[in-house]
Amino acid sequence: MDQFIRKHLTFLNTFWGKCLPNGVPSNHSLDLWDPAQGSLHPTLDPDPVEPMVSLFGVLYDFTARSADELSVNRGDKICVLREEGGYVLARRLSGEALVGYVPANYLSKISQDETLTQQPWYISGIGRNKATLLLLSPPNRHGSFLIRDSESNKGEYSLSVRNHAKVRHFRIYKHPAGSFYLEKGHTFPSLEQLLAYYTINWKVIQSPLLQPCIQKRAPETDQWERPRSEFQLWRKLGEGCFGEVWEGMWKNTVPVAIKIMKQADMRDDFVKEIQNLKSLKHTRLIKLLAICSVGEPVYIVTELMRKGNLHSYLNSAAGQELTTHHLLSISCQVADGMTYLEEQHVVHRDLAARNILVGDDLACKIADFGLARLLKDDIYSTTSNVMIPVKWTAPEAAIYQTYSLKSDVWSYGILLYEVFTYGQCPYEGMTNQETIQQISRGYRLPRPNSCSPEIYSLMLECWKGHPEDRPSFLNLRDMLFSIYKWTHHPFS
Ligand code: ATP
Repeated sequence: MDQFIRKHLTFLNTFWGKCLPNGVPSNHSLDLWDPAQGSLHPTLDPDPVEPMVSLFGVLYDFTARSADELSVNRGDKICVLREEGGYVLARRLSGEALVGYVPANYLSKISQDETLTQQPWYISGIGRNKATLLLLSPPNRHGSFLIRDSESNKGEYSLSVRNHAKVRHFRIYKHPAGSFYLEKGHTFPSLEQLLAYYTINWKVIQSPLLQPCIQKRAPETDQWERPRSEFQLWRKLGEGCFGEVWEGMWKNTVPVAIKIMKQADMRDDFVKEIQNLKSLKHTRLIKLLAICSVGEPVYIVTELMRKGNLHSYLNSAAGQELTTHHLLSISCQVADGMTYLEEQHVVHRDLAARNILVGDDLACKIADFGLARLLKDDIYSTTSNVMIPVKWTAPEAAIYQTYSLKSDVWSYGILLYEVFTYGQCPYEGMTNQETIQQISRGYRLPRPNSCSPEIYSLMLECWKGHPEDRPSFLNLRDMLFSIYKWTHHPFS
C-alpha cells in the first residue's frame, strides 16, 4: 500500500519519506486502498493529545549512549515533545518513529513558515472566494485541495477541498502548544501530518484529498492592460448604467466594442465586471480583449457583436424574419453558456434577452456580468437595494432576494418567452406588483404562437414555484439540443 500512496499521492512525498520509509513492509495489498471506494485502513493514527510540538533540524550527529536517548544525524528533522534541562524529548520523523532524549544544543528550530511556503498545497494570500474559484477552475478537478491562511482567525488555517462541483472549507484549529486539528482530540504536529491523516481517512471529512490545487502563475503585469492610444472610437452603440458602449477599432485593425465608464464613483462596480470577464471564459460568454484602467475614463474592450442585443435584434426587421429553427438555435446557445456558468457556480442574476449579444451568423453570447456573483453555498442572498428586473426574476429572488442557479433558470424561461414572441415584453400591461401577485397565485405566461408544446413545457418547468423542482441548465441544454437536432434532421 505504501507504494500505491507514494505513487498516487506524490504531493506528500516528504511525509511518506518520514513515516513510510522505503523497505518498511506494508500490511495492506496494493489495491486495498481506493479513494473512490473509501476503504479505510488508517496507518497514521494521530496522537490523541499532543503536548508541545515543534519542528527542529539536527545540526550535528548524535549517537545514543543509553536506551532513553535517540540517535540522530545531521540534517534530520525531529519533532520536539518537551524540554528537560539541556535535553529535549524528541521523536524522529524519518526512519522508525522512535522517541528519546537529544542534547538541545544539537538542534535548531525550523519555523512553520519556512516549511509551509515550500509545500505545493499551501497557497498564501487567498480567501474563501478566491480559493473556491481557483479550485473550480481547470486544471483543478474533483479532489483538488489547498491549505490557506484563515481569513477570520489570524494565525490559523483553512483547508479547502473540491468535491465534484462544490468546494468545502474546513477550519484548521491551532492548539496553543502549536499542534493542528480539525476535530478536537485529533491533533497533529504539522499541517503535513494532518493532511496525510485526512488523505487516508477522507471519509471523516467526506471529501477525498486527491491532488494539491494547481495555481496558475499570475502574470507579471496585467495581460489585458493596454494604452488608450491603441483604440479609436467610431460610433455609439448604446448606454447602460455604467456608461456608454462604442464601436471602435483596436490598432486600426480589430473591430471592438468599448465600454466607457461614466462616473469615477462607479469604479468599484466596473472593476467587479472586469474581474468577472477575466475569470469566466466560454465561447457563449462575451470575451474580454483589453482594459485601459490607467487614468480616466476607464475602458473595457470586448469583442464586437455586430447585431447588438438580442431584444432589439428580435424586434428588428431582420429579427422578425427568423424561423423557429433560428429561435431554437439561439435558445440552445444561451443554455450552453448558462451551463458553463452553472458549472462554475456563478449566478448571473440578470439573464434576459437585453443581456444577450448577437454577432454574425446569429452567434449569441451572454453579457453583462455586472450582477453576477460567485455562489456561496449555492445561494446568494442580498439585502442591498439593487434594482431588480422583476418580470425576469424568480419569485423567491424578487421577494426574498434569494438568488441561486435555479432563479437564473426561471429567468431563462422568460428569455425563452422573449425569443419565441420575437422580443415581446413579458406580462405586457401588468405592473411589477401585479406580476408578482399573479405569479404567486399560479399564473404563468401563455404559450407563444411560434412555440411548440415541447418548448412551452420546458418554459413551465423553468417557472416551477419550488426552485429545486426546476431543471438544471445542463438538462435544459440537452433537451433543447435534442429538439433542435430533431427539427433539423428528424430521421437521423
Ligand atoms: P447595464 O450594463 O446597465 O446593466 P446594459 O446591458 O443595457 O445595461 P451595456 O452592457 O452597457 O448596458 O450595453 C449597452 C448596449 O450597448 C447593449 O444593449 C448593446 O446594444 C450594446 N453593446 C454592449 N456591448 C456590446 C458589444 N460587445 N458589441 C455590440 N454591442 C454591444
